[in-house]
Amino acid sequence: PVSIMWFRQDLRVNDNPALNAACDMGKILPIYIFDDTTPDGRVPGGASKWWLHHSLTSLNKRLNGHLKFYKGDPKKLIPQIMKEVDAKAIFWNRCYEPWQINRDKEIKKQVIDNGLEAHSSNGSLLWEPMKVLKKDDTPYRVFTPYYRNGCLNVEQPRYPKAPPARITYADTQCEDDGLDALNLMPEIEWYGTIEKMWKPGEDGAADNLSDFIEHAARHYRDGRDIPSMKGTSRLSPHLHFGEMSPNQVWYAIKDKFGSTEDKSIDTYLSELGWREFSYYLLYHFPTLPNKNFNDKFDNFPWRKDAESLRAWQTGNTGIPIVDAGMRELWQTGYMHNRVRMIVGSFLVKNLLLSWHEGERWFWDTLLDADLASNSAGWQWVAGSGADAAPYFRIFNPVLQGEKFDKKGKYVRKYCPELKDIPDKYIHKPWEIPGVIAKDANFELGKNYPKPIVDLKASRQRALDAFQEIKG
Ligand code: FAD
Repeated sequence: PVSIMWFRQDLRVNDNPALNAACDMGKILPIYIFDDTTPDGRVPGGASKWWLHHSLTSLNKRLNGHLKFYKGDPKKLIPQIMKEVDAKAIFWNRCYEPWQINRDKEIKKQVIDNGLEAHSSNGSLLWEPMKVLKKDDTPYRVFTPYYRNGCLNVEQPRYPKAPPARITYADTQCEDDGLDALNLMPEIEWYGTIEKMWKPGEDGAADNLSDFIEHAARHYRDGRDIPSMKGTSRLSPHLHFGEMSPNQVWYAIKDKFGSTEDKSIDTYLSELGWREFSYYLLYHFPTLPNKNFNDKFDNFPWRKDAESLRAWQTGNTGIPIVDAGMRELWQTGYMHNRVRMIVGSFLVKNLLLSWHEGERWFWDTLLDADLASNSAGWQWVAGSGADAAPYFRIFNPVLQGEKFDKKGKYVRKYCPELKDIPDKYIHKPWEIPGVIAKDANFELGKNYPKPIVDLKASRQRALDAFQEIKG
């Protein structure tokens, strides 16, 4: 019998439970459907689409060109495809965005009503959200008890599976739309730098993981905070598209470093835990992308200010570490986590713009844009989220820069107009004395913008705004 293997956010052959199960049944027809019919308009952003195109190309190569591509509504397409190839069963790994859960439930019912089989597996998470609850059967809202008591102390993650010993493809001439019909590549070629930095697909994921294990894992605890260093694993887009499972990462680290007391290893594994927690929150609180987790924030007096938003998006706020971060994002499709927190705090606190503005911009420009991690990350930054940074803790971007980018290496890379400024002023070029500015060929307001807000006054404005909702 023929089975359909429906690839979604699991674009890999290794450790793919659904693929293994499908191959155990016999011949498979591997398919991918680009679903542009999402009810809440959450189609992938530009950067994600670029990644997806290349990831699918890589997967198709791995499947010897047997992957079939379709564009449209899976609820309509799947019954058609199953009928056309006389498939007896369909296999997939579960997805956790609210609209995906509803869609998949409908499809499963349709397939079963037609007298056929639908099987789903867990291929994307270490601990699935529905299985982790507090003693009173309600979901956790705080990370540490969730991770320690709800997950780690209850069950160890599943060990990764070997790829299927043999994949036999269905002998069918069925027509698909073809990869190009999905229209994932942008019309304007803005991806030059991105293309040089990233290698979508299973091989690229494996390269980043081994690079991290060899060079950075042992120093992760400190290294992860320095944006000019390659101190983190850069696995986020690979994990988002499922080119590597979190189980593969978890056990590659565990097998290499053993059950060490090493704080760096523990810290790294707990970051994978934060990814799990984001999915957990999205599953149990499906309005996470759209509504404040803490509804006190529903009355928060966010401002509307298109000009400041544009300055933030384009990296022209006049605050070097913020501008460097926003330019890193634009040029590379990635931003260092420490800097994500800094630019986020600046947007929602100093500029007093809603976290939704930041979330949308990240959604369109990040290669790792992920509904769960992005919404959870933004709500964390805004102070409206589960276990969030308290609103009154406002990052001072100058001090953050001075602490984590001491010599301004990161800022100089992305804001070359500041490259000759002495270290002392690199994070506050508005304080540079005239003679030194002249030597550095620097004129504030001419080759680099004046700050668009006063950091001290805008900090106070944010605290005042918070007082309004606190009462
Ligand atoms: P590493 O430090 O090497 O961590 C390993 C893996 O753990 C990451 O690949 C990621 O899957 C996971 N991880 C690490 N930190 C977090 C975290 N705080 N929350 C959830 N998972 C985490 N991550 C995304 O994958 N997609 C997003 O859209 C996204 N948006 C964010 C928005 C904001 C405002 C903030 C503050 C954080 C966001 N993050 C997001 C989390 C984090 O910044 C990235 O996962 C991380 O920077 C990716 O780099 P890395 O792979 O080198 O991470």
